[in-house]
Parts: sequence; C-alpha cells; structure tokens
Amino acid sequence: MSKKSDDGINRRAFLKAAGGMIASTSIFSRLSHAEDGNNPDINEYVPENLREVGPATLDEYRSRFTYTKGDSTGFSPHCVNCKGNCAWQTFEKDGRIVREEQVANYPQIRADIPDANPRGCNKGAVHSQSLHEKDRLLYPLKRAGERGSGKWKRISWDEAFTEIAKRIVDKLARKEFEKIMVYAGTGILSPLKRGAGLRFGSLIGAVRFNIAGPLGDMFPGATIAYGNSLSGTTSEAWYDADYLLIIGANPMATRIPDAHYINEGRYKGNRVVTISPEYSPTAKASSHWIPIKTGTDSLFVASMNHVILKEKLYDEKFIKELTDLPFLVKVKDEKLLNGSDIVPWGKTDVFYFYDLVSSKHVEAPGTKGSDIKSIKLDSKINP
Ligand code: SF4
Repeated sequence: MSKKSDDGINRRAFLKAAGGMIASTSIFSRLSHAEDGNNPDINEYVPENLREVGPATLDEYRSRFTYTKGDSTGFSPHCVNCKGNCAWQTFEKDGRIVREEQVANYPQIRADIPDANPRGCNKGAVHSQSLHEKDRLLYPLKRAGERGSGKWKRISWDEAFTEIAKRIVDKLARKEFEKIMVYAGTGILSPLKRGAGLRFGSLIGAVRFNIAGPLGDMFPGATIAYGNSLSGTTSEAWYDADYLLIIGANPMATRIPDAHYINEGRYKGNRVVTISPEYSPTAKASSHWIPIKTGTDSLFVASMNHVILKEKLYDEKFIKELTDLPFLVKVKDEKLLNGSDIVPWGKTDVFYFYDLVSSKHVEAPGTKGSDIKSIKLDSKINP
C-alpha cells in the first residue's frame, strides 16, 4: 500500500488528499492544466475534438467553484436514508447549502489496515439538493381520497398529533397491538429521535422495523431470515481477507464508501471472486468472475457446501468450536435439540452435541442460555 509511484507520489496520500474533492473541482483542475498546457498527458485521454476548452467554459467552472465556496461552513453526517453515515463538510451561501465535500480525515485505527478515506458516494455529493426539492415533505398531509389516489390535504401539527393519538388509543383499547407499526428511520440525524420512537413502540407492543428491512441498503434477506441485518463483519475485513468470495452482492455500486477496501486488498495480493449472473461493477473489479444463471445461486452454494463436507475440505477444529454444525438435530421436526427436549424444565436456548469421548450428548458451551459463558471447547470433549 505504501508503494511509491514513479513520480514519487504515495498512492494512499494522494487518495487522502484528493478525497475531499468533488467532481466540479477535479474538472476545474483538469481544465486549468489544459489551458496553460502544463499537462503533458492530456492527449492520452481527451479526444482531439474536445481538447480545446473555450474561455467561457473555464469562466463558468471558475465562477461556480468560487460561488460555492459560500460564506460559512459546517458538517453533515447525512443521509437520512442511508446507513453509510459518511462525514461531509458543507459550504453555505445565504443560509443555503451550495456545496458538499467529503471530509476525508478518518483516522487510521490499525497500522495494517488502510484508513477509511475517502468515504462518500455520488448520491451523497448532491444530497443537500434534496433539502430544496419540490416534493420534500415540509408539513403534515392527510389522505383526502381513496388509498392510492394520490390526493392529500394539508393539516396542522396539532391536528396530526391528535389524529395519531386517537388511533393509537383506539387500537390499544381493542388490544390490537400488532396493528400499530413504529418506524423510526436510521437515527443518524439524532439517536434520541430513533431511540425514543422505538422505546415507545416497545412499550405499547407495536410492530417495530429493523432499519435495514425498509431501507434496503443493507441485507433485506438477512433481516427477514435472521431478524438481524448485521450478522457479518465490518467492511475493513474485506481488506484483511486473503480470498474474498462475493455472492449476491454488488458493493462497488451499493456500498461505495467502503468498496475501496476491496480494491486496496488486491494491491496486497487478495483474490476477489464474484459470482453473479451479470458482469457487475464488482465483477469488473474482481480477480475472477463466475457467471451463473439467474436464480441458481443458492443451489450453487449448496453444491459448494456438499463438496466441502464430502471431501472434508473444512477446518475441523474451527467448525467444531465456532459453528453450530455439530449441534444435534431432532429427526421428527428437524429443529435443534434443546434443554426442554431433555427435561421439562430445561432451557430452550441451551443446545447439545454428541461427544465422541463419553459417547453421550453433552451441553454445547457458550450458547445464549448456557451457564458456561465461553464457546471454547474443553479438551476432554470432542463433538
Ligand atoms: S454512502 Fe453516500 S448517501 Fe450514504 S451516507 Fe455516504 S455519502 Fe451519504
């Protein structure tokens, strides 16, 4: 990562320094070089008919850049509908945001992992425009026609609060708790806003959404299957992995602020393999692309698992201690054998495996209901 290029510029230092620039500034910089003829490489990437840049175009970009420097600056951890939570600096003119730049000063937290800079995406670079869009919701609206008719009328905040309170009390009086749903957004703009809403929902027994399900920017499938969208590691692990298998995901397009860890990992020799039906942006940035037919990915992975188990290609110590593969499964309902299957008062969150040493079932350590708080296996047990 610290390899220097021929002109002595450290790639990481360059990226970090350049991270705060948005498109307009880089265009401006290129045009400036083009104008004074100092860029010897321009002929390599600009078609001949575009090499002449008129003074009017240069002035346009210069004045736009000068104007958007604004008269004050601030910071914005947007966005309300994204969990990226990237740090941006804002430039305001007459009380209105006119430009955003990636802050790009995240510290390096581990010497052997590159820092997170620059974080942000093209959607984020124009996020402030949404503050001024015509269809932005600025006050409460009430449906004024059939559902789906698109007819709304403006009501006051007092009317809105009264109406919401009436309906909640009505559902509570009928004990129809499951008919109340609370959605509190990402909470990025204020943890209290999210925490208070969810706590309220919890107290009245309402249905509460996990953030990722309705947002769809994480793993909606994982949310539905496990009830938790964040079952993996954080993104810098993409850099750490020697072999990165990407399936059912396209982080180059959908996780832009963190995707650089994949590219940086390739500089240290990581192999990146993407399995996808289409030649996606992530497939393009991979060492290897495996195209499969749409809808066959789960069969493909099941087949891989089959071969791994059949040919014993797994790390036995790892799967015995760190996975639930050795847990006993009941034949009658294919569920994990738990404490209540052994004795009526047994815990449902304690599980068992068959111990080859004692030839009987023993409790798996470290499960949620277990009194043993570590999953480390006793050397006398061999599941
Ligand atoms: S990923 Fe993009 S949209 Fe999301 S917080 Fe970062 S800059 Fe904003």
